[in-house]
Amino acid sequence: PELGEDPNRVYRLGIMGGTFDPIHYGHLVTAEQAREALDLDLVLFMPSGNPAFKQDKHVTGAEDRYAMTVLATAANPAFYASRFEIDRPGVTYTVDTLRELRSYYPDNVELFFITGADAILDILLWHDARDIARLATLIAATRPGYDINQACERIEGSGYPFDVRYIEIPALAISSTNIRTRVSEGKSVRYLTSESVIGFIRKNGLYRQGRAGSSKGDE
Ligand code: ATP
Ligand code: MG
Repeated sequence: PELGEDPNRVYRLGIMGGTFDPIHYGHLVTAEQAREALDLDLVLFMPSGNPAFKQDKHVTGAEDRYAMTVLATAANPAFYASRFEIDRPGVTYTVDTLRELRSYYPDNVELFFITGADAILDILLWHDARDIARLATLIAATRPGYDINQACERIEGSGYPFDVRYIEIPALAISSTNIRTRVSEGKSVRYLTSESVIGFIRKNGLYRQGRAGSSKGDE
């Protein structure tokens, strides 16, 4: 999306990456409060095309994950669902996304990469972590069940030049894995994600029996 062309202004662009299988209120609250706390002009929700860490797991097709991301973000004028990673062939690396965004947008755009506490723990293992640190400010959000302090100590002790901002998010112990499991067991997922996403899951028969495997890299 275009961010505006005021040469006297630095635009602040947030990137919320994820598998979004499916997107849920944990993602949406995190992005919204990051937007507010860091005064972001726009948050791009970027479903991963072919996640590097989820190669061995069943992941719902990119178009369905993207469609649900569009549905869930549609009403927020500061949110934008991006096809950037799903249209790129091959394995998704966050660093490539940041590099491409950096070269696509002119110098007056600052990049902020938003992650929950579990993803921060992983980030040092990601491809070219040093360049991730150089390209974007990291927004580290609390997530129930994960120790953000431990994660941040490791980031700061890494020797990479990370600029990290911490934000405390109202605790929502919601995960996509739990939603998939609940759907496969015929249980309710109401109020865990938007009605539009729930309708899409039903209509397209997503996450039915036998297809609810965890996509967490560490499980
Ligand atoms: P899965 O269970 O399939 O791994 P997930 O719920 O962890 O799904 P992801 O798409 O893996 O969702 O996460 C995308 C990003 O959103 C990550 O940075 C993750 O830390 C963050 N996130 C996900 N759920 C929450 C939550 N409930 N609170 C805060 N951050 C969250
Ligand atoms: Mg996850």
